[in-house]
Parts: sequence; C-alpha cells; structure tokens
Amino acid sequence: MASGVQIHYYKVCKRKLWLFSKGIGMEEEHERVIEGKILHERAYPRLNEREILIDNEFKLDVLEDEYVREIKVSSKMAEADRFQMLYYLYELKKRGMYKKGLISYTKERKTEEVILTEEDEQKIEEARKDIYQILQRPSPPSLKRLPYCSKCAYYEFCYALEGDE
Ligand code: SF4
Repeated sequence: MASGVQIHYYKVCKRKLWLFSKGIGMEEEHERVIEGKILHERAYPRLNEREILIDNEFKLDVLEDEYVREIKVSSKMAEADRFQMLYYLYELKKRGMYKKGLISYTKERKTEEVILTEEDEQKIEEARKDIYQILQRPSPPSLKRLPYCSKCAYYEFCYALEGDE
C-alpha cells in the first residue's frame, strides 16, 4: 500500500517519489519540511483528535464530523494536495467511513473542499499500480526539469549528479 506522502510525490515528481521511497532522505533536513512540521503542530491547538493513525497505514491531520482536514502552507502543490486527500477519502470509504475533505492553505487563507467521485477512485487505483511499477525500477526515473525543482529537497542531489538538462 502506498503512503499519503508517496501519493503526493507521485503527482509532484516521480523521481522524487522513487528517491524518497528508497530512503534517500534529504527531506528530513529540508527547511520547508521542517516548516510544514511546525505548522502541523501549531495548526489545531483546540482539536483533540490530531494526527490520527488509520489501521497503522496512514495518518490524517484531523478527522472531524463529516470531514477530513489537512493544513498546508501554500497552494503551490494544490493538485498533489487534492490527490492525496482523495486517496485518504478513498481509503476511509473502503473502511466504511464516508467523508469529505477540507484542505486549508494558511498563506492564501483559503480552504478547498474535496469530494471523492467514482472516477477519482479509479485514478487512485491506477496511481497505486503505477507507483508499484516505479518502485520496482532499479534506478530513479530520469531527471526532468520541473518548475519547482529549485525549491525541492533533492535539487542538489539531482543536479549535482546528472547536470542541468
Ligand atoms: S529536483 Fe526536480 S527532478 Fe529532482 S526530485 Fe526534485 S522535483 Fe524531481
């Protein structure tokens, strides 16, 4: 089973997904990730149910009434954020919990609602198969310049090893 982070990275960059999944752990030190962790800890001081682990498989920020809530710094990766939320909604549905999602972006001060459709469920299943295939590869998917490479935790790793294409 893929984790929420893997689903997110799958949408952001398949190379990043591979590197992260193989334990090449630049992420831990990266200041943006640290910033995200601090945000998480401060985000929901009034809610008791924070960081819920479902079946020892994936963690949710908050599960509240009909909603799963996630908080993000900015909406730069909105598509990946949405897909990750759909994945959570799908996994919850498989466990008999029918929820909607809310993603709050602190920088833009906005909240997006996410509703799971049958079409989304199919996309998630396809993504999961694709992730499995990617992780079977002996080496990472080749470097492809993306708009957010310069801000990625693996930037130096990618560009020092393979050069800027
Ligand atoms: S630097 Fe670019 S190519 Fe390398 S992992 Fe990050 S997003 Fe992917």
